[in-house]
Amino acid sequence: MSSTAESAPASDQDQLWTVEGHLADILAAVRPLAPIALQLPDAQGCVLVEDVTVAVSLPPFDNSSMDGYAVRTADVAGATEEFPAVLTVIGDVAAGSGALPEVGPGEAARIMTGAPLPPGAEAVVPVEWTDGGTGEGPATTMRPAGESLAGSSGEVRVYRSAQARAHVRARGSDVQAGDLALEAGTVLGPPQIGLLAAIGRGTVRVRPRPRVVVLSTGSELVQPGEELGEGQIYDSNSFALTAAARDAGAIAYRVGAVTDDAETLRATIEDQLIRADLVVTTGGVSVGAYDVVKEALSSVGDADEEGGGVDFRKLAMQPGKPQGFGSIGPEHTPLLALPGNPVSSYVSFELFVRPAIRALMGMEKVNRPTARARLVCDKALSSPAGRRQFMRGRYDAAAGTISPVGGAGSHLVAALAHADSLIVIPEEDTTIEPGTELDVVLIG
Ligand code: AMP
Ligand code: MG
Repeated sequence: MSSTAESAPASDQDQLWTVEGHLADILAAVRPLAPIALQLPDAQGCVLVEDVTVAVSLPPFDNSSMDGYAVRTADVAGATEEFPAVLTVIGDVAAGSGALPEVGPGEAARIMTGAPLPPGAEAVVPVEWTDGGTGEGPATTMRPAGESLAGSSGEVRVYRSAQARAHVRARGSDVQAGDLALEAGTVLGPPQIGLLAAIGRGTVRVRPRPRVVVLSTGSELVQPGEELGEGQIYDSNSFALTAAARDAGAIAYRVGAVTDDAETLRATIEDQLIRADLVVTTGGVSVGAYDVVKEALSSVGDADEEGGGVDFRKLAMQPGKPQGFGSIGPEHTPLLALPGNPVSSYVSFELFVRPAIRALMGMEKVNRPTARARLVCDKALSSPAGRRQFMRGRYDAAAGTISPVGGAGSHLVAALAHADSLIVIPEEDTTIEPGTELDVVLIG
């Protein structure tokens, strides 16, 4: 995979790529997925690719915003508790009522919230301003629709006047037919899904969620819940990154741990390509004796084809120095090979995989939000020269401060679990005094 000018090594001497350069290469290579039509529930979190116009006005008809009585304003003009207007109740109008009674002079129709305003009526008088048709003074609640009016007088006493259109929600007062409901590019959250449903859209054209296959490598890895043998550890990366991929918006498939055998790994990855828009591996990318990912990926089908292949680099960052990126297989499926240490793989995911997933989704914002915060800690922090360090921290938005959690060790998963942000220590800074203002990446 060729690198762009931006990703040129930070220094020719140590051949370290910048964080920005590596990300730029990834984003330059990752294209948004082709749009598909999805049913509303499946479209949640996806980016809309069509302008959606309103087919039917909302509300589709004038309707009542209260339980009460639909009346003609002239009939209730001047009504008071002492001198109520007495109207003949001609029927009930419930939400969903089809055939509506015509309200004539001296008449009222009992109406429920959301029910269509019957012809002839000009306003709704809330039930609280009436005797509820009981003849027993002001009502506080409406009787259930359809309850017999027998025993009552078939009349209602109205104690206040009402202006035309009072307690009536006008047709089209929310959105009108022909209006733009949602613009292409909108991310469909719950309220947007609600609007689409309200205007009667059952399916929408969106970019689908990317299918992300996560697999970890290491012969020492054991699935949680099983017995640990001598020298073995539990596979945490595949769980953490599958969760992170899902959190980023992907449909994530956890393949789990593959032994450090290049042929097994190659075959496993090839088998997974059928369901992958993006492949993420962890481990086996440094220069140890069992760095099988490099070996396996050099022989994944069609890797040698033009434009394919995975490039392994060293980045000017800590943790997460060794990184692999490229594309594999006949479809040139993008692949990110992350380092194995749990904190390294997680930080790498945040910096590179999450943006890639969001780019595949067609999101405009691919990066996590950042903030500036003042460092709060007992003693100065140290950081290696020439490497951008990402320490784990807890951010206090109200105070505008950031406090480190745990040390710099890239095996410290407990500290990571208590962090909500990454503290960014610039490449050139080696000693950072308490009180220093720093960038933080908010990952919580
Ligand atoms: P590697 O990059 O494969 O050499 O792995 C670096 C370190 O991370 C080693 O100590 C591994 O045991 C550990 N490690 C690698 N993969 C995982 C994983 N999936 N879960 C937990 N620890 C891992
Ligand atoms: Mg390993």
